[in-house]
Amino acid sequence: MIGRKINLQDAILAQVDMPYAFSQSSLNGFYSCPAKWALSRTNEYRSSPDTSHLRLGIMVHNTIDKHFKMFSGSADPEVLRRMIQNLFDSEWRTSGVYELESKYKKCVKSFIDFEIFRQAHWKEYKPTQTEYRFKYELDGFKYSGIVDLWGEEDSIMIDWKTSKDTKLNVSHLRQAEIYRRSKPNVKTVIFVCLGSGSILTAPAMPPTWLTEQTQVFADAIKSGVFERKRQWCRSCEEVWACEFNDVYLWGDHPW
Ligand code: SF4
Repeated sequence: MIGRKINLQDAILAQVDMPYAFSQSSLNGFYSCPAKWALSRTNEYRSSPDTSHLRLGIMVHNTIDKHFKMFSGSADPEVLRRMIQNLFDSEWRTSGVYELESKYKKCVKSFIDFEIFRQAHWKEYKPTQTEYRFKYELDGFKYSGIVDLWGEEDSIMIDWKTSKDTKLNVSHLRQAEIYRRSKPNVKTVIFVCLGSGSILTAPAMPPTWLTEQTQVFADAIKSGVFERKRQWCRSCEEVWACEFNDVYLWGDHPW
């Protein structure tokens, strides 16, 4: 890994200094490639990656939220299945991501199966909160985020993912640690990966683990040195700035 100095402008530095609230996406974005995280805050000339998976993810999340707003009681499993399917079908017609139909169908099937299971096994089917926003401070760092579903009676938090993940990775663990501390008495944080049908339960990490992870991020912000992890370069929006920064083809030359 090659470290490089990226000059965050003063305004950005002020924003990302300690008043900055770390989120699971900023923390995981930093760890996926520190240089990409920094360039995304300074670079105006991005390439345009395919955003269809992102749009499908937003559509699935919005439809799930709509389901919980419209229905929060309990029903015969077949009635529940039909209700969810009909809601998704009506949202799909205007989704504009028809090329991802097979992924969409898998997500809907997984969600229906999981909800039928959840209705039969949880003490309370109705979520206590959906899409709830939190902010808190831990060891001098601020954190913020949005939890997809919180069930108080069962002390379980759910994050819906449209990914095909079948195994927990360190990104899940960071996210779970941030979420876990947003409420007292959280017993379990689970990731329901609708693209694969897997349910991943995040174990609690040692008490200082999250602070240590965040400290590395904060130190990079302070030093302005960001590693280039060349793992996801093919789909990186910052690839031009990353490869050609300080190369002057037009405009002022440095020599
Ligand atoms: S091109 Fe690769 S190394 Fe450079 S910022 Fe993007 S992901 Fe990181």
